[in-house]
Amino acid sequence: NQEYVLASRPQGMPMPENFRLAESETSALEDGELLVRTLYVSVDPYMRGRMNDAKSYVPPFQLNQPISGGAVGQVVESRNPSFAAGDLVSGTFNWARYTVSNGRGVHKVDPNLAPITTSLGVLGMPGLTAYFGLLDIGKPQPGETVVVSGAAGAVGMAVGQIAKIHGCRVVGIAGSDEKLRVLTEELGFDAGINYKTAPSLRRAVREACPDGVDVYFDNVGGDVTDAVMANLNDNARIPLCGQIALYNMDKPDVGPRNFSYLVIHRGLVKGFIVSDYAKSFSEAFAQLGAWTREGKLQYRETIVEGFENIPDAFLGLFRGDNIGKQLVKVADI
Ligand code: NDP
Repeated sequence: NQEYVLASRPQGMPMPENFRLAESETSALEDGELLVRTLYVSVDPYMRGRMNDAKSYVPPFQLNQPISGGAVGQVVESRNPSFAAGDLVSGTFNWARYTVSNGRGVHKVDPNLAPITTSLGVLGMPGLTAYFGLLDIGKPQPGETVVVSGAAGAVGMAVGQIAKIHGCRVVGIAGSDEKLRVLTEELGFDAGINYKTAPSLRRAVREACPDGVDVYFDNVGGDVTDAVMANLNDNARIPLCGQIALYNMDKPDVGPRNFSYLVIHRGLVKGFIVSDYAKSFSEAFAQLGAWTREGKLQYRETIVEGFENIPDAFLGLFRGDNIGKQLVKVADI
């Protein structure tokens, strides 16, 4: 077997040398276990946090131990009564060609219902994150203005479209004109802001949101968030989903930097972790699946080919390489 292990912990931006390709033997299966052959690996921004030796809502990766994350695979052999050889499954597997799993958190995926990769994107963790963060915390009302940062990513593009379904005006903030073109011309966003080229972000937000901002779904933090905060309406809601602009900072940024706007506008900021909503996942899956089939919720994927490209695909998240969900194709079914 081949697997990627954590070779060292990054200081600031992660580097290729933080990962090492290792050869390993897959152990013989015990009762309850299954052997899964990896087909697609999901690389996700939260995995950056797991590279630090710090307590968080998921434990850190261990040095010289396999990196693990969301993936889709095919069962090769099973001693777990819930799975049989040949089943397609989604779960947490190693960055490896094969993973021995105890079956916990693994579920079967049906390729006849939706492409199997969607279980890692719009019909998986990122889609659920968009759904619960926007609807439970953002509570978008028809006619309101919703701004989403990281708008062309897996979570962000779902947030914007779900806000459109709820009758809102939607503005996306992302890092390239091509991303903004996809959002506005293909996915129904009303306006877009390129945070890398806008001469003044505050002014760009003000111009794109003439009626102010009622809901700000924050995936990035930093300067982008400062600019949106300066344009809030009274009683604005801010689902705090991620802060990717801060994940690779050597030293913590000084902040929160302009929380005074929350006082003036009686704003609500609430952080959340998608797993908080585990009890309601099945309801959300049904709704996300229905919207997808109806064409109201589209998705995009950026798929890199080749097991050897997993670390670089992960690093690409911080370069903004992806439109929609970033995946790595490791093998054919
Ligand atoms: P994305 O598909 O959005 O990929 C990451 C994107 O972030 C990149 O494409 C890039 O796009 C943008 N980005 C990278 N660096 C920066 C930066 N310094 N400043 C601004 N934007 C940057 O990832 P996900 O959709 O999977 O995740 C989006 C956010 O949601 C992340 O912050 C993640 O941690 C968070 N998250 C939180 C969950 C929760 O339960 N709370 C669950 C899942 C995700 P661009 O070209 O626009 O810069």
